[in-house]
Amino acid sequence: MDDTRNMTSSEKQMFSNDDSQRGKVVLAATPIGNISDASDRLKTLLATADIVAAEDTRRLYDLANRLQIHVNGRIVAYHDHNERDKSDSLLDDVENGATILVVSDAGMPTINDPGLAIVRRAIARQLPVTCAPGPSAVLDALALSGLPTDRFCYEGFVPRKRSEQLKKFRELQYETRTIVFYETPQRIAQTMKSLLEIFPANRPMALARELTKNYEEVRRSTISGIADSVEQDPPRGEIVLVIQGASEQEIHHISSALSIEELARLSLAYANDNHTRLKDAIAQILQDHPYPDGSLANKKTVYQTALEIKEL
Ligand code: SAM
Repeated sequence: MDDTRNMTSSEKQMFSNDDSQRGKVVLAATPIGNISDASDRLKTLLATADIVAAEDTRRLYDLANRLQIHVNGRIVAYHDHNERDKSDSLLDDVENGATILVVSDAGMPTINDPGLAIVRRAIARQLPVTCAPGPSAVLDALALSGLPTDRFCYEGFVPRKRSEQLKKFRELQYETRTIVFYETPQRIAQTMKSLLEIFPANRPMALARELTKNYEEVRRSTISGIADSVEQDPPRGEIVLVIQGASEQEIHHISSALSIEELARLSLAYANDNHTRLKDAIAQILQDHPYPDGSLANKKTVYQTALEIKEL
């Protein structure tokens, strides 16, 4: 049976990936270091697209030179600052039958790079948009990290400001999926300090740098191990951080965090059973039941609550 019978023509076009067919947007991944990762499809598209929308036109010429390809189409600058304004006029050309190739400086467009604006506008205008996939540092680092790949979340660049770093890491403290961040050599030392403040020091993580290049390196250790290595041998070049998600044990720890009333009741029972002073019993119970971040409940509040329970 023909499943495409009830589709509009633009929906049907999504199933047709003949690059000689005109009138569409193609997002194409470019090498993230190793020029040999350029696909045949990328090379053909660079030579044949009517318009190439490039994040940086000089980088595009450099790529084309290295691939020994002549870009025959019109080249336009398409970057973070103009992508919203440019998208509709480029899509007018698509409507008139042009093929627009969108490329960023390296890797997959839209992944911390321009491209999303034209995808959204193409969808809104029901114009065909497709992808010539290829290198992207997220997947490369994730696959090489040795950490679980079945579920992961990509968080873009680690925030620059320390307060925002801590906020972001707190939000992700109990994320169970593997977490991937982009990072720069200038900020990695500070980032490792912030990670150590929030995450357990023994959480497995990997630091991948200069992927696909001559000095490719993947450091696999724990958060504290990577922090030490960053201090002793500061990593240069482009960096991806991959952090294992929270273990079931860590999650269990959070869900088993006791309320003040439960802590007070436990303390009363402990004092009774062991013939100790209530204050000493509370100190012991709080030590035995820390909060997930390692801190303890407030002694005075637990004491006050225990007295109230006793009076009932
Ligand atoms: N669109 C790109 C992609 O698909 O990977 C990402 C662009 S983002 C502006 C650049 C960041 O990606 C770098 O700062 C670095 O964190 C990461 N990156 C890019 N190339 C890399 C490489 N060869 N090795 C490690 N990280 C890389």
